[in-house]
Amino acid sequence: MLPWFVRRTRLPLLSLRCVDCRSESATTGEGRFRVNANGNLLDVWLLVRCVSCDRTSKLTVHERAPVRSLDPAELHGYHVNDPDVVASRLLDPLLARRNRFSLDWTGAWRLDAPSTWLDEAWPVQVEVVFEDPVPVRPERLIAHGLGLSRNEVLRRVKCDVPLRRSTRTGFAFIVMAGD
Ligand SMILES: [Zn+2]
Repeated sequence: MLPWFVRRTRLPLLSLRCVDCRSESATTGEGRFRVNANGNLLDVWLLVRCVSCDRTSKLTVHERAPVRSLDPAELHGYHVNDPDVVASRLLDPLLARRNRFSLDWTGAWRLDAPSTWLDEAWPVQVEVVFEDPVPVRPERLIAHGLGLSRNEVLRRVKCDVPLRRSTRTGFAFIVMAGD
């Protein structure tokens, strides 16, 4: 079984409408949190910036959360703007749902596929591992990874998930020999 890896190359942009200029694209930039303490309660926001007009908005990460309810390592991550904590919060579907944005993965990921696979005996088995939850259509990913047309993929590939439906979790497929 050959492994393929789907990995992000940078943080995705956010599809989020700016209240000033109506642009629909925002970025976390380097990634900054704002933490506000009120007695024993904490508000935590992730700051994002409109890519057109630079207006900053705050995405709610925690709202009036008791300090004790937060993992100390995570809280430290908010204070020092830890890039890993920025990434894990940004990619958390709960944050997107709560703040009504979606992620724009265009140009923010790559497929790492070994190029030696052609030497393998047919049929070739491949397992796709998602290191980041990038939504991809298996049909397009496989066509790209193997350098095949999408018609050829539909003819030669047996996959354990629907080829045309977007997924962000691992799957496996088998490529049959060509004619
Ligand atoms: Zn704007």
